Amino acid sequence: MTAARALLAIDQGTTGSRALLVDREGREIASAYREFPQHFPAPDRVEHDPEEIWASVVAVVREALARADLAARDLAAVGITNQRETTVVWERGSGRPAGRAIVWQDRRTAARCAALRAAGEEERIRAATGLVADPYFSATKLEWILESDPDLRWRAEAGDLCFGTVDAWLIHRLTGGRVHATDHTNASRTLLYSLARGDWDPDLCALFGVPPAMLPEIRPSAAAFGELAPDLFGAAVPIHGVAGDQQAALYGHGGTRAGEAKNTYGTGAFLVLHTGPERGPDVPGVLTTVACGPRGEPERAYEGSILVAGAAIQWLRDGLGLLAAAEESEALAAGVEDTGGVVFVPAFAGLGTPHWEPAARGAVFGLTRGTERAHLVRAALEAMAFATAEALEAMTGPSGVRLAALRADGGAARNDWLLQFQADVLGHEVIRPAATELTALGAARLAGVGSGFLSGPEQPLAALGTPRRFAPSREWETRRREGLARWRRAVDALLHWADGAP
Ligand code: ADP
Repeated sequence: MTAARALLAIDQGTTGSRALLVDREGREIASAYREFPQHFPAPDRVEHDPEEIWASVVAVVREALARADLAARDLAAVGITNQRETTVVWERGSGRPAGRAIVWQDRRTAARCAALRAAGEEERIRAATGLVADPYFSATKLEWILESDPDLRWRAEAGDLCFGTVDAWLIHRLTGGRVHATDHTNASRTLLYSLARGDWDPDLCALFGVPPAMLPEIRPSAAAFGELAPDLFGAAVPIHGVAGDQQAALYGHGGTRAGEAKNTYGTGAFLVLHTGPERGPDVPGVLTTVACGPRGEPERAYEGSILVAGAAIQWLRDGLGLLAAAEESEALAAGVEDTGGVVFVPAFAGLGTPHWEPAARGAVFGLTRGTERAHLVRAALEAMAFATAEALEAMTGPSGVRLAALRADGGAARNDWLLQFQADVLGHEVIRPAATELTALGAARLAGVGSGFLSGPEQPLAALGTPRRFAPSREWETRRREGLARWRRAVDALLHWADGAP
């Protein structure tokens, strides 16, 4: 018997699957990534084939082990993180999927959600789950699947079918069908989970017609989730960490206490603010969700989404041809004093946290004959920072939770100018680790803490490297006060414009 040498993290994302191996110091040893097909059977539908997800996971695990020249018996534990809310139904006995998975982006249940709101169900949904009646979450997707075929409903009631988010689907397959379980962070995104009970909510299950027999058991994120079936990779390794992607990223950053927050600056931006063991007061336009405590305990967080972030830079590059590459935005923004009075609100697809106005559309305010390309580019970067500050203010203002620091990841977080500007408009430090794969690192860290392979939750992962810290500059107070005031005026104008929409 050789001593275990590594942790394996599986990061099953919306467009691809990644396997990451880290050593006892939390240093990356090897990784592998593979995309898998997306299915768009109708304009409002997005589906994944659970078998294609599975095949991609098996492939990247084998590839990462081969690259590291490791065997499954060298692994101490496996951690899983995943695209959240995506809904899978499969046969308990055979492990065969009952059909395609309905992806979080899928909007086919929009009318059902509108009917729930019209019937006055929103209040109790929000009170129990911290979420809103939106197609994004799993419950109406599962309801849709069960209603699509009477045979499925009957078999679900008989206990022959399993429901799960992608974590549960992978756990079932990885354990050779022995374990049907999920963790609290994933469960908290289904619309079937009661934050107060820390378990499935029987009233909500009844509301969505979900037979309790098909639900996975809910465990803490660093708990034991069974062992890999030995014939799969060649050894029985414990699965010891499971969390949804956003929560795993926060855990990867080391954000496990009230006031710690992370923002992922990608196409959109995804913000999570830890609020400690207790649920904070309800904040309009902000979701309440489960995040991990130091040892993966189910604690609470606020979550927000900025629908367009880096996508605004993409648009300036590909739509208007103002940039050759996204990276150019940094030097251009730094090369001008300010935006020359320009405010750009890139609400191309509506406004997210805290406004949630789907009818809003983008606008550029304050154009003059003196407006240059650099002004517009800088305004697009400023928009990411202002929208983030606005969402964080919505979360911290009424709740009394004080922001400690903001941790940054995602493609646009490579932009130093943006993070400095962000620190200024927040009046708080912004911290960027050297690592980029925070989601996978979070899953590895959960598995390491859960299995005891890492010395404890305080052990920093070597892969995070020496973080770059952006402290508020001398001008921060003016930047914050004047900048945010102008941003708010622009957003108000946009909302007013959306109000008049037919
Ligand atoms: P996602 O995972 O959402 O697809 P990424 O995290 O890979 O996205 O980030 C890509 C986004 O970040 C793109 O929208 C791109 O325009 C933006 N981006 C990448 N590099 C920079 C940069 N240096 N400055 C500003 N935005 C950038």
